[in-house]
Amino acid sequence: MTEITAEEYFGGCPHCGQYSDCLNVNRSHWMTCDEHRVRWWIGSNLFSSWRHEDEVTWAKNILVLEEYSEVEPIFPEPSEVEKRQMAEREAEFRRVDKGFGVCSGPNGIRAKKWGEPPF
Ligand SMILES: [Zn+2]
Repeated sequence: MTEITAEEYFGGCPHCGQYSDCLNVNRSHWMTCDEHRVRWWIGSNLFSSWRHEDEVTWAKNILVLEEYSEVEPIFPEPSEVEKRQMAEREAEFRRVDKGFGVCSGPNGIRAKKWGEPPF
């Protein structure tokens, strides 16, 4: 059995880790995998795309979604690099919490080091 990984932020099909489309029904967003005929709900009003659609589009989407079974999507595991970045960021926030203050660095706002001047 091969390992399935979901690369997509909104989850992937539990069978293949991919998705085919995002369909709106009114302000609800559904992700689909056409190959495995499954769907999963990702939320409401996350994108403004639904505002440019109408009842006819939603009625068509409902017909597609009704054919698909609802599943729990799978989500990507953070990579080693992402895990390290998250840990570094957390350590950074802990220093800010201790009142070291912040200053802007090349990669956005960073915590000041101990003893660094305020300006
Ligand atoms: Zn699939």
